[in-house]
Amino acid sequence: MGPFFRTRILRHKDEPDLRSSIPPPLETVDRHFLRLLVDTNSALKVNYPCSVASVTLAQYLNGHYGGRSVTTRRRDSFILLVRNEAAMDYHRLMRLLSLLFAATSIMLVAQAGEQSSLDIYVIDVEGGEATLFVSPSGESMLVDTGWPGFNGRDADRIVAAAADVGVTELNYLLVTHFHTDHMGGAIQLSERMPIHHFIDHGSGTNLGERGQAAFDRYAQLRGGGKHLQVKPGDRVPIEGIDVRIIASGGDVLREPLAGAGDPNPACRDFVFHGEDITSRGGDAEDQLSVSAVVAYEKFRTIIMGDLTWNKEYDLMCPNDTVGTVDAYLVSHHGAHTSGSEALVLPLQPRAAIMNNGPKKGGAMQTFEILDQVSSLEHLWQNHYAVDAGNHNSPDRFIANLDTGDNNAAANSQPAHMGASHWIRVSAQSDGSFTVTNSRNGHRQHYPPRP
Ligand SMILES: [Zn+2]
Ligand SMILES: [Zn+2]
Repeated sequence: MGPFFRTRILRHKDEPDLRSSIPPPLETVDRHFLRLLVDTNSALKVNYPCSVASVTLAQYLNGHYGGRSVTTRRRDSFILLVRNEAAMDYHRLMRLLSLLFAATSIMLVAQAGEQSSLDIYVIDVEGGEATLFVSPSGESMLVDTGWPGFNGRDADRIVAAAADVGVTELNYLLVTHFHTDHMGGAIQLSERMPIHHFIDHGSGTNLGERGQAAFDRYAQLRGGGKHLQVKPGDRVPIEGIDVRIIASGGDVLREPLAGAGDPNPACRDFVFHGEDITSRGGDAEDQLSVSAVVAYEKFRTIIMGDLTWNKEYDLMCPNDTVGTVDAYLVSHHGAHTSGSEALVLPLQPRAAIMNNGPKKGGAMQTFEILDQVSSLEHLWQNHYAVDAGNHNSPDRFIANLDTGDNNAAANSQPAHMGASHWIRVSAQSDGSFTVTNSRNGHRQHYPPRP
């Protein structure tokens, strides 16, 4: 630590240790205090009361110290991360900051007394999937990692979303299945943040040479952490929220979750898909997807991976084993091979968030089925869906408006590199939630259901 740090401690012997305590509000923090933080040798994590506007602090620090700090909101406080050049790759941090400040609406001000929330970030990975859950306990679970390659584009976007909520390591990584758009970014991500537990359906089958090689790399990474191979009915032991596995490895939940189990009228006209046995890639990975219901007391949501149409029938027919949700994370990028009426209608979501790419998922049929959900107030989209024309939601509900064809990671140069935008769901224990589009700050509050 620098000499300044020692001076300060000597002068204020009665002050608690800065590394572990809440410092005074910004108004009483002087320049010396801030310098002192920057002068320390390693990253510090300091919680600030929410009455402090984080952007003021961040701008101050960036103005004076060249962008070596990040402030973020977490529950009832901001988290200030300050690192010096020795501890942090400067260029990486600048990139992170530019991403954060491109999406500033959430960074401007948080109100004092804000409640704890389950925060869900639907991250743009260009037609892949990556969804970060941060429990009110502070524990985190990332579901899928986006694509590999592109100098860690998708991993960087995940890190930026995590930083927005003060998360610097992952308690759980759930890989729904072993397709490149879901598993591919895991290794680059592990180079950027520690991952402690790996959750998946076991091992891949008939993945082809390249797919198998990618799986082997993932399996090696997984071997360095703890591995949980899940089956329907299992709980992910993340603290503060209830994560129940409803499908995995081709099996689906048979016993209904609490409050579910009613006959599902949408099963009557179900038309099976002949091609459900294998995905377009020729393997059965999509139908092996791990799917889960995530609940924070009264709030419920569902995440499906790429679970296929016919598996939805097994899960939801003749009786619905899942029950209703407040927010529906649209299955399989909104592709036409998932998201049947039998799945979607009984969920009765108030909001749906679709992680599509410009030309990946976002199928006309998906929009049409969602149109039938009478409870649905808004469909939020991660990308404008080029082929869906005027079915697209109004722009304010869409996080990324570019129309480039950049979902084929392995063989095309994506147009959309650099900064991107996410959609966040912030849920309260009473079932209410707020959805925010980081591109334009547009947000919508959904009060508790009566
Ligand atoms: Zn996929
Ligand atoms: Zn897939």
